[in-house]
Amino acid sequence: MEIDKLKLRIKDSVELQRQQLTQLSLNIHDNPELGFEEEKASAWLTSYLKDSGFNVDRGIAGLATAFRATYGQGRPRVALLAEYDALPEMGHGCGHNIIATSAVGAGVASKPIIDQLGGSVVVLGTPGEESLGGKIDMVKAGAFKEIDVAMIVHPNILNMVAIQTLACSSLEVEFFGRPAHAAAQPHKGINALEAMILSFTSINSLRQHIKAEARIHGIITDGGEAPNIVPTHSAALFLIRAPDNEYLAELKDKVINCFTGASIASGARLEYRWRDRTYAPMKNNTTLAQLFSQNLESLGRHVEALDLRFGFGSTDMGNVSQVVPSIHPTISIASPGVSIHTQEFASAAASEAGHEGLMDAAKAMAMTVADILRPGMLDKIKQEFHSR
Ligand SMILES: [Zn+2]
Ligand SMILES: [Zn+2]
Repeated sequence: MEIDKLKLRIKDSVELQRQQLTQLSLNIHDNPELGFEEEKASAWLTSYLKDSGFNVDRGIAGLATAFRATYGQGRPRVALLAEYDALPEMGHGCGHNIIATSAVGAGVASKPIIDQLGGSVVVLGTPGEESLGGKIDMVKAGAFKEIDVAMIVHPNILNMVAIQTLACSSLEVEFFGRPAHAAAQPHKGINALEAMILSFTSINSLRQHIKAEARIHGIITDGGEAPNIVPTHSAALFLIRAPDNEYLAELKDKVINCFTGASIASGARLEYRWRDRTYAPMKNNTTLAQLFSQNLESLGRHVEALDLRFGFGSTDMGNVSQVVPSIHPTISIASPGVSIHTQEFASAAASEAGHEGLMDAAKAMAMTVADILRPGMLDKIKQEFHSR
């Protein structure tokens, strides 16, 4: 069967799933689960894939809510990644219900391609994207060893085939002071909150002299107990982001200097821990991105020119992209005024525009699977991956 006919069949297959995919998306949206607790979502997604003829392994890579669903045996093996974790307080403000359902829809629509051209398609359930970095664990556990290409589509306000994301490390900081009556004997106290405020001020000064793409942002999680007690303990969580790992390392040292300086100035003892999951920047495979772009445009969507702009934060897909040729396109489901990680975006993720986004993402991904399995294409994709 020629490729165009195959692509028509793919689109029909996604359309045939419309009702089920939309319902699955709404079910996940209406039952938001935080990272590594996505029991309902992973159960629903895997049962849909199992019913559609996939071989399903749940709880892979030491993560209870991760899964691998495979159709076909051989290589090339193309992975379609599903995320399904929600955000605290705002449910699916990142629209991961659309990521999950477009991946399973594309997986099922890829079956005729595999039957026709050989190879296999794997829907990988990757939990805990928001700050927990589930894919980082999965990369370490070897979940991508037998994978040739990986794709994931994230809802957004524009259709973009390649986004640049930032390397990101998380930092936990604490200061320990000494209590005293804040009015009667303030000279006997050591103020852990002041140490934290000083640190924020130093970081604000540092921010004037860092690269434009880098980001440093934090929240205070403990600032003392009562205004009449000199705070003996303060704590904060910070995220440090940079366009590459080298600059991230440089910035991490500078940030720690801000905390150390505040510790010396205030007398409060500093303790800090870097969380061990560092998000890597996205290495976009442009060969793959162009295939996806053509397919998405053929569905009548305007796709932004391939232009690596910052502005998407960080994703653990970055870590996948460092080991396997990958793309992380975005699909528009909301007007440009809306920001992800908001209640408005959560509403968009359950709207008609959200459903259309999931349908088009599924179609474009499965059509791209067909392109990847064309003779010579994987070599081209891998050549680019190894040349950069
Ligand atoms: Zn997010
Ligand atoms: Zn997200």
